[in-house]
Amino acid sequence: MNTTESQHRRLLQPDGMHYAQNILDLIGDTPLVKLNRVTVGIDATVLVKVEYLNPGGSAKDRIAVRIIDAAEKAGLLKPGGTIVEPTSGNTGVGLALVAQQRGYRCVFVCPDKVGEDKINVLKAYGAEVVMTPTSVAPDSPESYYSVSDRLVEEIPGAFKPDQYSNPNGPASHYASTGPEIWADTAGKVTHFVAGVGTGGTITGTGRYLKEVSGGRVQVIGADPEGSVYSGGTGRPYLTEGVGEDMWPDAYDPSVPDEILSATDAESFEVTRRLAREEGLLLGGSSGLAVACALKKARTLTADDVVVVLLPDGGRGYLGKIFNDDWMKSYGFLPSACSPDEPGHEV
Ligand code: PMP
Repeated sequence: MNTTESQHRRLLQPDGMHYAQNILDLIGDTPLVKLNRVTVGIDATVLVKVEYLNPGGSAKDRIAVRIIDAAEKAGLLKPGGTIVEPTSGNTGVGLALVAQQRGYRCVFVCPDKVGEDKINVLKAYGAEVVMTPTSVAPDSPESYYSVSDRLVEEIPGAFKPDQYSNPNGPASHYASTGPEIWADTAGKVTHFVAGVGTGGTITGTGRYLKEVSGGRVQVIGADPEGSVYSGGTGRPYLTEGVGEDMWPDAYDPSVPDEILSATDAESFEVTRRLAREEGLLLGGSSGLAVACALKKARTLTADDVVVVLLPDGGRGYLGKIFNDDWMKSYGFLPSACSPDEPGHEV
């Protein structure tokens, strides 16, 4: 069954009309789209899974529902409770959506490298946001991990989903993202590429695709250069939502067959090309995933079908990746220079 059929069936009401009972019913069943221009010279089919079409705008809506359902069942989250989570924004939006529907308060802890637009989105959904410095060690009392632990102790009835260790994160992708990709490619997918943050997406989706294909599907992690997954130390990089300076429990390193990395410059260049050439306005971690997928796809044949998961959309990055001045300030675009300046080429 393809995505459209399954979505149509899911929204069928007893009276024959089609509509969602509430916004949460629209989570998942995102479509695949073929890349046509950035793939020139590549024989393999490259399909992207557009997760910004989830109602909260990212793949994280999927984990939010499953984590809250499980917490309610386990008695960890009771009526009137508060959800406290360190999140770069997208998990916060997903959790805020679910919390709103079920009457919970949300307090999110965000590192200060996260774009202001993303923070304002969280506040718009009714969440409270606490900012912490990015350039401190994870065990520092100021780190976003430490601050959220302290808030959980201080707030009565607080529940910390902890996307970095909660098994329901990978489980949600095992139950939804993986089966959707398998069904929509009619089992023809040969490679799956996803960025690695908590590791939930690659672990859950990758595990499902490996199991259902009898180990045939190759799973490839995409990592910003400098992060631990590709052998770095966690050196600061600018691509948001991916890469780590520690190894989260949500990540099972036995799932990926390979980890590829890309620099911020490569990831942001691909992010901008996807908007201009494919009509896909995406975040930087999507550019990272596609940059790594293209590196892999160049080595593949016309028999291969590469599926790349695109975690979120580009509207939260308009002041950064899509802003020429911001890009130039990091040396990612050639800076405007006058014709008589040394080094200027015409
Ligand atoms: N991209 C973005 C923008 C994200 O917010 C996240 C989640 N941290 C990821 C990629 C990585 O997903 P995961 O945590 O499942 O590895």
